[in-house]
Amino acid sequence: MSTFSKFNFGGKKALVRVDFNVPLNEKYQITDDTRMRAAIPTIQKVLQDGGSVILMSHFGRPKEGPEKKYSLIHLVPHLQKLLGDEPEVFFAADCIGEAATKASALLQKGDVLLLENLRFHKEEEKGDMGFAEQLSKLGDVYINDAFGTAHRAHASTAIVADFFDADKKMFGLLMEGEVSSAEKVLLQSEKPFTAIIGGAKVSDKILIIENLLEKATDIIIGGGMAYTFWKAQGKDIGNSLCEDDRLSLASSLLEKAKAKGVNIHLPIDSTIADKFAADANTSNCNSGEIPAGWMGLDIGTQARLDFSEVILRSKTILWNGPMGVFEMEKFQAGTKTIAEAVATATQKGAFSLVGGGDSVAAVNQFGFNDKVSYVSTGGGAMLEFFEGKELPGIAAINK
Ligand code: AMP
Repeated sequence: MSTFSKFNFGGKKALVRVDFNVPLNEKYQITDDTRMRAAIPTIQKVLQDGGSVILMSHFGRPKEGPEKKYSLIHLVPHLQKLLGDEPEVFFAADCIGEAATKASALLQKGDVLLLENLRFHKEEEKGDMGFAEQLSKLGDVYINDAFGTAHRAHASTAIVADFFDADKKMFGLLMEGEVSSAEKVLLQSEKPFTAIIGGAKVSDKILIIENLLEKATDIIIGGGMAYTFWKAQGKDIGNSLCEDDRLSLASSLLEKAKAKGVNIHLPIDSTIADKFAADANTSNCNSGEIPAGWMGLDIGTQARLDFSEVILRSKTILWNGPMGVFEMEKFQAGTKTIAEAVATATQKGAFSLVGGGDSVAAVNQFGFNDKVSYVSTGGGAMLEFFEGKELPGIAAINK
């Protein structure tokens, strides 16, 4: 594996796997270009060195071959705008075959070529060797800058790397940032290390909690998943979210934590509501004494203080999942308070990593995205990394 920043791309064609899976409206206009902007520093470094860039990405979920609405051609004007007038952005109507080969052969130093959607070929998601080999022939070096798909063993994210020598494959700047931040938390965490886990379901977060029991000093559990833990201890949770088939699992996680000396923090109280709605009547009560007909939709006032105290004495913080139904104003105070505490701890010198779709949406919504150490772009990939799994996109570059 080579190091991107030390590599000289002069005269080289860099085949770069990016994540350009951006949302489009019905007029094919990009409604959020975050993912495209995230790839620009990597592209610019290659161009500045005197190389050319071949970009490949998936886009949406086309079912059977090409579909207009999933064509990456819609992104060309915006990509040109992001890169400025200097490099010319070309488009190849297919990611393999004659269209791609010809376009790649014609590339001059300083040019950018965007290939058509990889998923127009079913071989991409199957991780087909032949397809990966065809992709590999387009470039002299391979750069993976798509952390969001690093947990998939697809042709362009993992298999293609096998066709490049170790010194000709590397992570791009975005991927380097993601991997080094995640490794800093999981492998080199300064203690106390607090993991804040929230969101709807325990079942989605079991593996991450189990793995963090080996690493963290404190685990804060908030969101809808906290109520399964309360009920497992025989408490009354009213109509709160609960996975009855996970009660014994919740008990065993609590026991395991105790045996390992990891502090599990559950919200002692909750903001409760008489219905799951923005205009519900609300109140604050102990999380284990929620009246019938009421449900916990946010951590309560005391829990916010307790959790903040734990966060403020932490040196490493990992946050995945909101503390409540933050999409509704009445139930966003918990998530907002936690975002504030993470920002303050970061200011005091802690390393904080926020990841997972909804917690990222929350820090962005509350304006804390530049007050934490790192905001991960990869939801599923980040979750699997912290579950302790080896991500194919990372392994393919490292091996
Ligand atoms: P997840 O995708 O598992 O991280 O869950 C995120 C979702 O959990 C968000 O849409 C939240 O609204 C929801 N959520 C958080 N807390 C609660 C709660 N107490 N009851 C129901 N849903 C919740």
